[in-house]
Amino acid sequence: MKVIVIGLGCAGSAVAATLAKRGIDVVGLEQFELGHEKGSSAHQSRAFRMAYAEHEGYVPLLKRARKLWMELNKDAQDQIFFETGGLYISNKTSGLVQDSIASADAHDVPYEMLDVEALRVRYPIFQVPDDTIAVYEPLAGMIVPERAIAAYIATARDHGADLLEHVKVLSWKETSSGVVVETDQSTIEGDKLVICKGAWTTEVPIRVSRQVLTWWATETNLHDTSELPVWSIEMGGDIWLYGFPMTPNIPGPAGLKVAKHFPEETIDPDDEVAKEVRADDEETVRSYLEEWLPEVAGSCITMHTCMYGNSDDGHFRIGLLPEHKRVCVISGLSGHGFKFQPVVGEIGADLAMKGRTEFDISFLGL
Ligand SMILES: Cc1cc2nc3c(=O)[nH]c(=O)nc-3n(C[C@H](O)[C@H](O)[C@H](O)COP(=O)(O)OP(=O)(O)OC[C@H]3O[C@@H](n4cnc5c(N)ncnc54)[C@H](O)[C@@H]3O)c2cc1C
Repeated sequence: MKVIVIGLGCAGSAVAATLAKRGIDVVGLEQFELGHEKGSSAHQSRAFRMAYAEHEGYVPLLKRARKLWMELNKDAQDQIFFETGGLYISNKTSGLVQDSIASADAHDVPYEMLDVEALRVRYPIFQVPDDTIAVYEPLAGMIVPERAIAAYIATARDHGADLLEHVKVLSWKETSSGVVVETDQSTIEGDKLVICKGAWTTEVPIRVSRQVLTWWATETNLHDTSELPVWSIEMGGDIWLYGFPMTPNIPGPAGLKVAKHFPEETIDPDDEVAKEVRADDEETVRSYLEEWLPEVAGSCITMHTCMYGNSDDGHFRIGLLPEHKRVCVISGLSGHGFKFQPVVGEIGADLAMKGRTEFDISFLGL
């Protein structure tokens, strides 16, 4: 069987590696250079959580993903997954903490509750009101996305996959016996197709949003920022402020990385001007920092933008296209898909090879 994978970012690189390891003939096509920063998968760090506020159906997938991250880490030259723990902060009644606990309880994910006094003592960098509570999740962590994608690309190639960069797919069609893909350079035939085009997906509806990432100077006496867990604070209105510990020796900017998890302004994924950083971008994060982490609301060292490919309800869209049983789409990862990369690779490989998967993805259908 020959499977063509379109897009070699987070999802496509893992699908290609998983298929190749299973002995399948793989051709992977990427419009830019491998490991580029123009999509949704770059810039130093991604949070991994299993006490998953978004939907408890993700938790079994995350348990499998964590096991696979550990295996990938074991063989990696440069560390990919850092076991930092995770901290989720909100007021007593709002979703982030309550929904994280509900998912954790449903699937035996370990966690520790922190009341406001405990939170202030253990993590004094956060300035929190009296009605705050928090969850600490010891098995949460941080992933270096560039290293993860490089590892999957290397694995795929080691197992014989033909991964081509600077090849843009212009169209595809399904025939009675296979699939045909037209690129800007040639026509490629295969048996099955896996579409992992991220923000460029056109096969299912998504809204592409422009997201800003910021890095801040860390002159704080309140906390050793290298000992922070990955953290999220619910700000109200479904907006989360989130950040990472300072981790030396990983690629990317210095400083404490902080961003807002909320789908922002709609853009065209090819609009390079819209993706440029604007002078006032830092203000959207600074106002929240002043309220919640005032010690780090000083100097913004640098910023980047990135894109979310959002489904209408924030849940992934993964499955076979209804009219095309040889064609699988992985899309709508909606700003929270990276942590699933290894298991998304298995699901994509299952769907391409068998047309179904043992993982319960019924809540993620097209
Ligand atoms: C700022 C930001 C912060 C995030 N934080 C987290 C986090 O903390 N935790 C977490 O789990 N997730 C996080 N995410 C989400 C996660 O990074 C994304 O869900 C994931 O990277 C999306 O992967 P993808 O493979 O769908 O897209 P991409 O990695 O962008 O890959 C799509 C690829 O397809 C290629 N392509 C598209 N069209 C074509 C074509 N016609 N021909 C050839 N190639 C094509 C593109 O060039 C691209 O390389 C974050 C995302 C952003 C933007």
